[in-house]
Amino acid sequence: MDIAPHDNLDPAPVVGRFAPSPSGRMHLGNVFSSLVAWLSAKSQGGRMVLRIEDLDDRCRQEYADQIMRDYEWLGLTWDVGPVYQRDRTEVYEEALRSLTDRGLTYPCFCSRAELHAASAPHASDGTPIYAGTCRNLSPAEVAERSRLRTPATRLRVPAVDDVADDMIEFVDRTYGAQCEALATECGDFLVRRSDGVFAYQLAAVVDDAAMGVTEVVRGCDLLSSTPRQIYLQNLLGLPHPTYAHVPLLMAPDGRRLSKRDHDCGMDGLRERFGTPEALLGWLAGKTGIAPDCEPRSAEELVGIFSWENVRTHRNNLVIEPIL
Ligand code: GLU
Repeated sequence: MDIAPHDNLDPAPVVGRFAPSPSGRMHLGNVFSSLVAWLSAKSQGGRMVLRIEDLDDRCRQEYADQIMRDYEWLGLTWDVGPVYQRDRTEVYEEALRSLTDRGLTYPCFCSRAELHAASAPHASDGTPIYAGTCRNLSPAEVAERSRLRTPATRLRVPAVDDVADDMIEFVDRTYGAQCEALATECGDFLVRRSDGVFAYQLAAVVDDAAMGVTEVVRGCDLLSSTPRQIYLQNLLGLPHPTYAHVPLLMAPDGRRLSKRDHDCGMDGLRERFGTPEALLGWLAGKTGIAPDCEPRSAEELVGIFSWENVRTHRNNLVIEPIL
């Protein structure tokens, strides 16, 4: 599968990416994080790649098509892609084999109910911290359990006392220095689900490297995924892109804006604002990217974009109702 640029583009110093999951229409929160990703790359003379993260069976081609039309309407162009993750399972397979060959993975037979048991400690993003139940099963136990259930595959993380490797550190462009002990804050994590679908963490890391991505800009709900991704890059010998997480947009009552807020969905936004300039100018003004809410195109925003203005809103941004 060809993921090289369409044209003979010179190697760009900065390569950013859009990585939407086509499980629904875009909403205001996606527009904001996509806009910041695009502005960051373009303000550094970089280019953008588009990757459709469609491994999960909730994803639909019609949503992917719609998301691409919405990017185009907004003026958020891409230079490479679309690359569909569903076409790349052989590449993920190979990465997983390299981990498995080194004894870094193991089959996990735990059911959802077992994992989500009330007593299980949970990570900051709400996922249960894996207790290591299947970590040391004997070959006989694995054979026995495999007869009843297809296992998922987990990646071992270093134990807490493994002082050399246990902490993952990085500097986020918005949220500053980050440090996480995978063993206590996440535990051995899934790289492949029991239905055979590769986990987002593995696929994203393999693809970011394959697509030459140098900067990852995305919503801050994924900040807690970054240590797992850096750990995978370490194990697979892949380069580390820079990371910048973008504050989430919240409704005034403290809820995160979601696909369920009709007025924040793309249909409602296009109807309400009429032009991409009106929508982007309003959003840029509300989020501090621009000094006011005057209509502005994505191109016009490149000239005034500064990470400093995003950073001042580290705490989630409250957006008042639009309609
Ligand atoms: N596909 C993810 C989403 O739409 C984003 C993944 C990423 O940016 O790493 O939420």
